[in-house]
Amino acid sequence: MAVIADDKKLSSGVLQNNLYENVNRQFNKAADLMDLDSSVRDRLSKTTNEITVNFPVRMDSGKLEMFTGHRVQHCDVLGPYKGGLRYHPAVNINEVRALATWMTWKGAITDIPFGGAKGGIQFDPSKYSKLELERITRRFTFALGNNIGPEYDIPAPDVNTNAQIMAWILDTYLSMMPPHERQRCSHVVTGKPIEAGGSIGRDKATGQGVVFSIVEWAKDKGFNLDGATYMVQGFGNVGSWVSKLLKPYGSKLVAVEDATGVIINSEGIDPDDLTIYVKANGGVGGYSKAKPGDHETFIKTKADIFIPAALENQITAETAPLLNVQLVAEGANGPTNPDGDKILVERGIDLLPDILCNSGGVIVSYYEWLQNKRSEFWDIEEVDSKLEKRMKKAYIKVRDAARNYKTDWRTAAYIVALSRLETVLKERGIFP
Ligand code: GLU
Repeated sequence: MAVIADDKKLSSGVLQNNLYENVNRQFNKAADLMDLDSSVRDRLSKTTNEITVNFPVRMDSGKLEMFTGHRVQHCDVLGPYKGGLRYHPAVNINEVRALATWMTWKGAITDIPFGGAKGGIQFDPSKYSKLELERITRRFTFALGNNIGPEYDIPAPDVNTNAQIMAWILDTYLSMMPPHERQRCSHVVTGKPIEAGGSIGRDKATGQGVVFSIVEWAKDKGFNLDGATYMVQGFGNVGSWVSKLLKPYGSKLVAVEDATGVIINSEGIDPDDLTIYVKANGGVGGYSKAKPGDHETFIKTKADIFIPAALENQITAETAPLLNVQLVAEGANGPTNPDGDKILVERGIDLLPDILCNSGGVIVSYYEWLQNKRSEFWDIEEVDSKLEKRMKKAYIKVRDAARNYKTDWRTAAYIVALSRLETVLKERGIFP
């Protein structure tokens, strides 16, 4: 089995049919409050293109298997479509629509010249060999054809996909180009291995962005991160990086949940040690330097900060009342549903919403894309300092919108995004 580290490791594969409804509820709340232009509202409430492909792949056994993949392009008014590809049994068109729409908001909040897209294949990659994964990835890329492109729609890693998978997409895409055009197309995907044109700092970027957001929140609140406690759901790329990057601040990881179990230790869990364990064992379950627990115990854990970095729809009417934290910092996309949001507000639990908090990944994807276009390689100081500055600016805009509109932070983040989109959409008008 060759499934490799990923952006966010998942627990079970529940179908997320209502996810797009969550996006629409969030969108309508913000649109009402800011009195969004009605034609802009109509345009943004629909995706632009939805591509579904069914394609055959030869398995190691010699048998053929059919796969279904999607790519949804929500809006390209701010720049090329941009967003990850996920491999998961729960991938379905509604989920991909929601994720594509969130990407548009992320680009708009962080002032990067990208629109929103998302894609995925509905299957469980842990059940396939590395060679099968390569053939699935290459055949999906072939099936998408010119629906992706370096100035048109640029995929990146997401749940259960990683730099290796991006390298296969790059190689397949370039192989389909005329030879003289290949060298100028390496920015058709981001999140590539560094040797294949990736950016230094992209691997940790989502986690780094989450940490920059938490640091800003702590400054605003006069909250001391030294000695603070936090819990993480998902210990894939995002969860593990957030934990490793919070360590120098003196914060203590007290509970982790992933698909393989729950581990709890009020004395603290060392993120570096746990990362080594997870790489060797495929998950946190069985980690001997902490006590095992169940989902309910995990949700009720007393900590200062909760960082959901796995699945959607985790903070809901059922779980939000049980949380025992001051801040939820969303590393995952869509971990809180609208009912959960309401309860967080009522309970006075602060929220760093996904479209702000986890935007570090797409921001550094933008830096990778720029480096490829300019044939440059930036160093880590340059990537990190640019990321920090951009995250801070976005954070301040969302905070100020929450104050000005006297609203919650998710709605405020939407208002920031929608205001930028409204301006551009009105300036450009419609054709014909
Ligand atoms: N999959 C990541 C996200 O949800 C990154 C997308 C990208 O870099 O394009 O934001």
